[in-house]
Amino acid sequence: MIASEVRALFAVASRPEIVSLAGGMPAVDALPMEAVAATVAEVVTRRGAQALQYGSAQGDPDLRARICDVMALEGITDAHPDSVVVTAGSQQALDLLTRVFVDPGDVVLTEGPTYVTAINTFAAYQARIVHVPMDDDGLVPDGLAQMLRRLAAEGARVKLLYTVPTFQNPGGITLTAQRRAEVVEICRRAGVLVVEDNPYGLLSFTGEPGRAIRADAPDDVVYLGSFSKTLAPGMRVGWALAPPAVTARLVLAAESAILSQSMFTQLSVEHYLATQPWAEQLKGLRELYRERRDAMLDALAASMPVGARWTRPDGGFFVWLTLPGGVDTKAMLPRAIAARVAYVPGVGFYADGSGRSSMRLSYCYPPAERVRDGVERLAQVITAELRL
Ligand code: PMP
Repeated sequence: MIASEVRALFAVASRPEIVSLAGGMPAVDALPMEAVAATVAEVVTRRGAQALQYGSAQGDPDLRARICDVMALEGITDAHPDSVVVTAGSQQALDLLTRVFVDPGDVVLTEGPTYVTAINTFAAYQARIVHVPMDDDGLVPDGLAQMLRRLAAEGARVKLLYTVPTFQNPGGITLTAQRRAEVVEICRRAGVLVVEDNPYGLLSFTGEPGRAIRADAPDDVVYLGSFSKTLAPGMRVGWALAPPAVTARLVLAAESAILSQSMFTQLSVEHYLATQPWAEQLKGLRELYRERRDAMLDALAASMPVGARWTRPDGGFFVWLTLPGGVDTKAMLPRAIAARVAYVPGVGFYADGSGRSSMRLSYCYPPAERVRDGVERLAQVITAELRL
């Protein structure tokens, strides 16, 4: 097991004088706290005997039915609650899935860069992580096919393709519709299960959310969802939607991991979705994050030195910035902290040491003004670094 670059940073980055563009913490202060409090109180007074009791390892049936309604917003209209497993955040779904599928030495394909804690999970189960080339349209299908041919020639056992296809963490990139179909087809032919990790899909800045990969490939994809970014990560409620044979294994793995998911938070989320104007609140969150995204992109355009390149996300939390001149973003971080701005160095998002001149910037947590200040401070640090 390896320590996460991001976690190690949290302590420093949370000092009030520092603008943290590092953590991916949702803006929970935008939640209507009184409504949350009322929901929780009602769950205890009305359904306390159930909320405070053990439940099933698969999760509460009412919540699973409601999760199916949520997934329909991204085109998944055929999901049955029996195919859903509720987990302690989608992180646990990822852990359980890896436990079920991956033996030491098995290959897990991922984007490069990819979600840092997924790397750590795969590494903990001794997977061999192989990055597939990506560009501004997401995974490159030809690159994937080529990689699979090379791995087949080596005799490698490739188990999973792990992808965050929509508003990716950390890249902010979205896989195009055409490539979604191609990626699934290539994986189907190679007998590789696609894991679609989609915590940000509903946070689209350009109108209605897009179509999940799973919507068009029910037999080939395990879909991971979460209420962490659209409600509250403190609830620790996420889920997996999987083909029946996989669902059965996930439930067994969940039983041994956790016995029962928290009934208290499951019923709280279920009751909140049933009684609060969640769709309206989502709209508000999209506006809030879009304003912060705009602040970041404007500030980057105004202040970054020539040669710096960055992504332009249409949703989610993150921008991926790559610097010219061979700047080492990990070595530069202490100077950024001294200038009161924090980010996450790019190397942590790769399993192979790539990403030295890149960094992840998140605009989800600080208000727009602070985002702008943070980027300006960062630009000064980078400009000084380029002069060294
Ligand atoms: N996947 C991705 C891509 C994420 O960014 C995160 C949260 N940072 C998670 C999974 C885990 O989310 P949670 O466990 O809170 O649902």
